[in-house]
Amino acid sequence: MTEGMITIAYIAASVLFILALGGLSNQETARRGNVYGMVGMLIAVVATVLGAQVTSYGTVLVCMGIGGAIGFYLAKRVEMTQMPELVAILHSFVGMAAVLVGFANYLDPGAHLEGAERVIHEVEIYLGVLIGAVTFTGSVVAFGKLRGVITSKPLLLPGRHGLNLALLLVSIWLGATFVGAHSVADGMMPLVIMTLIAFLFGVHMVMAIGGADMPVVVSMLNSYSGWAAAATGFMLSNDLLIVTGALVGSSGAILSYIMCRAMNRNFLAVIAGGFGTSGGTMASSEGEQGEVVPISAEETAELLKNANEVVIVPGYGMAVAQAQYPIYEVTKKLRDKGINVRFAIHPVAGRMPGHMNVLLAEAKVPYDIVMEMDELNDDFPEVDVVLVIGANDIVNPDAQDNPNSPISGMPVLEVWKAHTAVVMKRSMATGYAGVQNPLFFKENSRMLFGDAKSSVESILTAI
Ligand code: NDP
Repeated sequence: MTEGMITIAYIAASVLFILALGGLSNQETARRGNVYGMVGMLIAVVATVLGAQVTSYGTVLVCMGIGGAIGFYLAKRVEMTQMPELVAILHSFVGMAAVLVGFANYLDPGAHLEGAERVIHEVEIYLGVLIGAVTFTGSVVAFGKLRGVITSKPLLLPGRHGLNLALLLVSIWLGATFVGAHSVADGMMPLVIMTLIAFLFGVHMVMAIGGADMPVVVSMLNSYSGWAAAATGFMLSNDLLIVTGALVGSSGAILSYIMCRAMNRNFLAVIAGGFGTSGGTMASSEGEQGEVVPISAEETAELLKNANEVVIVPGYGMAVAQAQYPIYEVTKKLRDKGINVRFAIHPVAGRMPGHMNVLLAEAKVPYDIVMEMDELNDDFPEVDVVLVIGANDIVNPDAQDNPNSPISGMPVLEVWKAHTAVVMKRSMATGYAGVQNPLFFKENSRMLFGDAKSSVESILTAI
């Protein structure tokens, strides 16, 4: 492929990636956005493989075959509830790729650079490896936290901000040593030490983040992976990788900011590693809270049939149980009876941004009855029945009432203001943030215990 053809292909791919991001901002156009992204990526891969830098097609094709097969197998097998983990681990690959490309590029820069060009190139390598290493270990810890193999409680080391600052200062000093080194052998030592520090920083940063702040971290690591890719693009002088990395980096940063605003968190505080979390705040409304009042599926069906206004609040448990299909059947039945049924979506419900919207769209729930938290929160006092399906943290009144709660200040769906709130879950277990929920013990709350799908199916039969 000629240089000119490759440039045209790269421009076309960049435009398609921008269209993809535009499409993903809206549910109706999301599918089209995905198609744009896939076509853009295909063009990008083909143009790169056919570029002048690739000389051994055999090696590239074998690697692509192995990588593609593993990716295909994993993506086919992954459950919807495991998607956030998959995304987190994929971010870690981007981070590791940046680290490896950085080292390879330092050992063999391809061309002999002098003066300012050499300094710029080494700064690119240093920053690329730094961001990549933080992204790698941060994403691995995020993967562990999302999978539940690492506790979601924040690890709050004494003097952790001092430690972070010290790591940052040492990294800057090592950077100066690295750029000032006269030979590759001299520069290797500061580069390796900085990489180890960045690995440590990534672990510490994400370990310090409490359960409820994880959504911000996941989108932030998404942003970091973009900047790591952009840095790799600079190292390899690949314009498309720079553009794509910048798109991912900036859209991830915007998403993190939006998530922070939605959760009433300070962006800088979260990325500084649990800055807003003072030590010992994990104690919230633990211990004895009173009695809960159980309800049966038949009684719930009765309540629903006699209601005028019904709101359904889906959470992570709906995703686990795959209860979106029967709940839409219930919705249709109620709407046929003239009952106004709406869905209320909290910005961090589930385990990834837009998780609930995806599930409801899968079940073909019309978009016009799916409301954002802000659109619906003031209406709860007029709502007769709220069905909380496998949601916990996002409906926890402690966020408003208990300043010592780890989720204090996070906006929540005020379901307890409705006439009756029916909570469907299997037990009295806590949600992702690991805190008890006083909603279950309120006078107007009823607990419908059991797997959400079976409970909803029983309600459907009873209706
Ligand atoms: P939660 O994790 O707070 O609660 C989910 C509840 O679902 C649990 O209490 C569980 O209770 C119940 N559940 C699980 N399986 C089933 C089942 N089969 N049937 C019925 N109930 C079930 O979820 P929310 O959606 O309320 O809140 C999301 C949380 O995840 C927030 O803390 C958020 O910060 C965090 N988070 C969100 C991310 C995002 O991007 N959206 C990313 C990372 C974290 P039981 O075991 O008793 O059934």
